[in-house]
Amino acid sequence: MTAQEIMKMIRENDVKYIDLQFGDMFGRLNHTTFLAKNFDADQIESGIPFDGSSIRAWKSIEKSDMIFRPDPRTAFIDPFREQTTLVMFGDIWEPRTNERYDRAPRNIAHKAVEYMKSLGLGDQIFFGPEPEFFIFDSVRVGTSPQSSFYEIETIEGPWTMGEDGHNLGHKIKHKAGYFPATPQDTQMDLRSEITSHMEDMGITVYLHHHEVGTAQGEIGIKFGDIITAGDLVHKYKYAVKNTAYKYGKTATFMPKPMFMDNGSGMHVHASIWKDGENLFAGDGYANLSQTALYAIGGLLKHGRAIQAFTNPTANSYRRLVPGYEAPVKLAYSATNRSAAVRIPYVDNDKARRFEFRCGDASGSAYLNFAAMTMAMIDGIRNKIDPGAALDKNLYDLPPEEAAAIPSTCPTLEEAIDEMLRDKDWLTAGDVFTDEFIEAYVGYRREEEVEPIKLQPTPLEFELYYDV
Ligand code: GLN
Ligand code: MG
Ligand code: MG
Ligand code: MG
Repeated sequence: MTAQEIMKMIRENDVKYIDLQFGDMFGRLNHTTFLAKNFDADQIESGIPFDGSSIRAWKSIEKSDMIFRPDPRTAFIDPFREQTTLVMFGDIWEPRTNERYDRAPRNIAHKAVEYMKSLGLGDQIFFGPEPEFFIFDSVRVGTSPQSSFYEIETIEGPWTMGEDGHNLGHKIKHKAGYFPATPQDTQMDLRSEITSHMEDMGITVYLHHHEVGTAQGEIGIKFGDIITAGDLVHKYKYAVKNTAYKYGKTATFMPKPMFMDNGSGMHVHASIWKDGENLFAGDGYANLSQTALYAIGGLLKHGRAIQAFTNPTANSYRRLVPGYEAPVKLAYSATNRSAAVRIPYVDNDKARRFEFRCGDASGSAYLNFAAMTMAMIDGIRNKIDPGAALDKNLYDLPPEEAAAIPSTCPTLEEAIDEMLRDKDWLTAGDVFTDEFIEAYVGYRREEEVEPIKLQPTPLEFELYYDV
């Protein structure tokens, strides 16, 4: 779509407001709203100045000017607004140098694919993200310097509704949410409504289902190129959260909201194409090409460092533990859901791909996909051998065997340290700049890693109050 076509769409749909949206370095979606009748096509082409100083870890107050350049291909009518509102995503530019802003995640995704092209390794990279989420009836959260608590309520949870004997017969059993029919699945209608909204927003949806966890769900959407896929994750989360909100509920993509229950991951399917051919199809293990195996080699080699971007919150690491279908071992397999990389069964070469299962949706998907692209590039360029496939349950290995397979990082702090030690593959081609990495790490450490280390948790009170 061109700027002129956008203006036509505004007239034809009697659009009242134009909402410009972009994701920050930590995956939060931001927006500002313009009155459509005072908006013109030039603003789409030349961009719109805005103050970037209060966006987390972006500009300092003394040089805060930025330009938002909407990407007309992303336009959709927001199904959640009362007045007709057209949404566009876009890129952030520097006003004076007229370059893309180095700390904008969508720009880093652009640079990653451009770098891959410049090396002649492929002309397109596709990602198929599978974000999982919980929808709760109510969540009470309190934090203060003195204390913290949380309390989750969901009709599916036996621990909140069970004491008065309320409908226990229809509760889904613990970790058995995959996937009994209604009425046990209490969120069928909600997910159908989310799905309809997603279709209205231009997302192609294939299916939705309850997930293993209590009140947990997933919606299966069509893959896209790196930028489209990053936009898709923002739209997906927007649709899930806004639909839940309409019913007075809240949705979360937090990786591990519930103790002893499954977490929410975001598995990501990937393939690299060149001249209309899928470079991942071949006759190696699980019908993958040597290129795909090297790409896996890159992902596994940098599998601990990459977690600074694919598992970017302190909470991410409560998910990466044995026994909850989340990977803990940096290995690959065609069958095994306990390995970091799984090769799904498909019956044709166009669909040939692998799935990176480590990540979650708690950060910026653009950064997640850009980091994956860079790890795959490194694997292909340096012919990194992924070793033999491991087709057994990696949660139950004898200790000597387990020790031989590298594990995912146990904390965000370690993932960040690992990434700072092993980052040449990220900074290659200036895709992730050192300046960006420093700003990103600074924020994660100061706002998340350090305070979480310092604050006593409710569980510590249970364990230690009477000591
Ligand atoms: N929730 C699981 C995870 O954390 C995945 C479950 C599944 O999709 N098989 O990755
Ligand atoms: Mg899935
Ligand atoms: Mg799933
Ligand atoms: Mg999956």
